[in-house]
Amino acid sequence: MAWYPGAEKMELQPESDEQAAITPTQVIFHSVAAPWTPRRMYEYWRDSTNLESHFGVGYDGGVGQFVGTGTRADANMHANRRADGTGAVSVETASDDRSTDPWTDEQVGALIALGAWLHRRHDIPVRVCPAWDAPGFGVHRMFPEWSDGGTACPGDARARQFREVVLPGIAAAAGGAPVPTPRGDAGPARYRVTVNGLEYGYGAHGPHVKEVGEALVRQGFGRHYQSGPDEDWRDADTLNYQDFQHSLGYSGSDADGVPGEGSLRRLLGRLPSPRRVSLAHVVAAARTDPGAEQGHETYGGEVRIVEQALVDEGFLEQRWVDGSLGTRTVQAYAAYQRSLGYAGEDANGIPGQRSLRTLGERRGFDVTD
Ligand SMILES: [Zn+2]
Repeated sequence: MAWYPGAEKMELQPESDEQAAITPTQVIFHSVAAPWTPRRMYEYWRDSTNLESHFGVGYDGGVGQFVGTGTRADANMHANRRADGTGAVSVETASDDRSTDPWTDEQVGALIALGAWLHRRHDIPVRVCPAWDAPGFGVHRMFPEWSDGGTACPGDARARQFREVVLPGIAAAAGGAPVPTPRGDAGPARYRVTVNGLEYGYGAHGPHVKEVGEALVRQGFGRHYQSGPDEDWRDADTLNYQDFQHSLGYSGSDADGVPGEGSLRRLLGRLPSPRRVSLAHVVAAARTDPGAEQGHETYGGEVRIVEQALVDEGFLEQRWVDGSLGTRTVQAYAAYQRSLGYAGEDANGIPGQRSLRTLGERRGFDVTD
């Protein structure tokens, strides 16, 4: 069950609670044959029919979500949920009453941003579905299995936009390119950057996103949050980060609310890293590996990170980087501890909280308990 951070949540009941779970593998775009807002679509499915979609996109690019993406929605006939549990995420879009008009620029921008999120969140491949039950993106008219007796939905103009603009836009956004901002509405920046191996900006996800939000709140830059901060980067995160950048004296495109290395360091005092080492794991390895048979590995991946850092600091030879925290690595760690001014038991070669954090800060890994 996932809810898109770029949408207003308008949960449809009882569908949301009662319909079967799906593993989303497809995205299918529709025209709703009415010039409706997402709110009006929600009311229609609540009051009038059961053929709901997961999402609705208004002419102004506003997005509503009615059902979580891990739950079946009913707009796509046999693709709603297949026997193997896979299914399609469906996206309705406001249109004229015969579905002949093209998507507005605002709709195109919203579909690209949504498509890029669905790609990242559910690993849906950015390609045209090669068969009615094969993963990818499509428009409703593409396969007879997706409708009851065939349909022209979403119309000729939009079927063309899908292939020529929307899908290429999703591919570009999935590769990190900026999502085009709708004309006439500057709005918060909606692109992502990778800093030290972690993504930041609209749509980014993970504990490092929450860490940024919490640091912003602590430092008094939380006024745009109505909920959160949490692990999803939304426009509110961008706006709060922009306030923080302004406080540093940044302006123009340097203050668009998307982090850079410099401002992140100022905010957090360090650059978070996707490389993580648990102190408890490394200590367990230091107590186990030296007495075990040659090459014994306890938490080998984390030990390798520490060993490489000791090499880079000049305390260990490269050939001893083997994932086994054996006698040589313990001796090297003791030498590193002495270089920090520790002596006696404090320089026994068993990593401690302070020495390991210092090593991580110098060599780019995070230390957890
Ligand atoms: Zn349709």
